[in-house]
Amino acid sequence: MNKTDRIVVIGAGLSGLTVARMLADDGRDVVVCDKSRGLGGRMASRRKDGWRFDHGAVVLRPTEGIFANFITQIEGQGTAAYWTDAKGWTGLPGMSGSVKPIANGLTICTQAEITALDRGSDGWSLQGHAEFSGQTFDQLVLAIPQPQAHRLVSPWPKVQAQIEHAKMAPCWTLMAGFDAPLPTDVTYINDCAGPISVIAREIAKPGRTPPGDAWVIQANAEWSTAHLEYERAEIESLLLQAFFAALDCPPVSPVISMAHRWRYALTSQPLGQPCLTDEALGLSICGDWCLGATAQDAFMSGRSLAETLLSE
Ligand SMILES: Cc1cc2nc3c(=O)[nH]c(=O)nc-3n(C[C@H](O)[C@H](O)[C@H](O)COP(=O)(O)OP(=O)(O)OC[C@H]3O[C@@H](n4cnc5c(N)ncnc54)[C@H](O)[C@@H]3O)c2cc1C
Repeated sequence: MNKTDRIVVIGAGLSGLTVARMLADDGRDVVVCDKSRGLGGRMASRRKDGWRFDHGAVVLRPTEGIFANFITQIEGQGTAAYWTDAKGWTGLPGMSGSVKPIANGLTICTQAEITALDRGSDGWSLQGHAEFSGQTFDQLVLAIPQPQAHRLVSPWPKVQAQIEHAKMAPCWTLMAGFDAPLPTDVTYINDCAGPISVIAREIAKPGRTPPGDAWVIQANAEWSTAHLEYERAEIESLLLQAFFAALDCPPVSPVISMAHRWRYALTSQPLGQPCLTDEALGLSICGDWCLGATAQDAFMSGRSLAETLLSE
């Protein structure tokens, strides 16, 4: 990669923002785009009527020193705090807040879904958003889930074949809020039996002031796969039933209830290498799924890619 190369990163999740941050800090010309309105990808928070739910990543548990340093840094900046019950960190004011410091000062185009890629003699051009029409880039970074990357690189079968074996599983997530606290001491469970894998109580997290008792209920991969095409209303009712059974609580009606389908939620089969680069094409790929299923994997993958590009 040349110092003056124009770089575009598709995906403003933790991996894409990490690679863009490191390239920008080295003075490179980098722009990020994301199809969503907000930043952070699956480090997500949903707000509605005064309620806030972390409906993606629930807790950050660093095992790598460099990720632990990052957590310490964002904790110092007031966008993360330790959540004792889950023995890990959460973002502030919600999980999506944890990525904000990395994004500071980066050029980011949101609500920009890239639907196809072209590689001409003058570089990469992106289809799907007017902002990028007529623009070309020397380097393209895909920082998106494996199935989405796989689709976009279909004109380059050699690249596609290299990522073929990595796999991701879905996760149906229910956000439910109750006006009175449920009669239970439970605040966090990550080894549920039945359809549910994780239960998290938002009010138990540091820095949360929801208008009532807010919960995030995540179905396991097997159940989510089997119910992938169900209507949201059906999912809400099934997961609510399973939730009350898991807590051994008498059922009450939530005042707010939303089901979210993460089609590509958690890595079930990682790529087995931190990132992928094709120097001749000027195409690179990173994301949690290269290494595993956690935010730390996304961070490490993004870092590894930036280091590779900066050393070229
Ligand atoms: C329900 C759930 C629970 C989880 N729980 C935990 C947990 O407790 N702890 C933990 O460490 N991790 C957890 N994770 C995993 C963690 O959220 C991910 O590992 C991490 O956020 C992945 O970051 P990423 O940058 O690789 O991808 P993403 O966060 O998916 O970012 C990719 C971005 O690319 C964008 N995008 C995709 N396609 C396009 C396109 N064509 N054009 C433009 N933009 C595009 C998306 O909008 C998204 O913002 C959980 C994930 C889910 C879904």
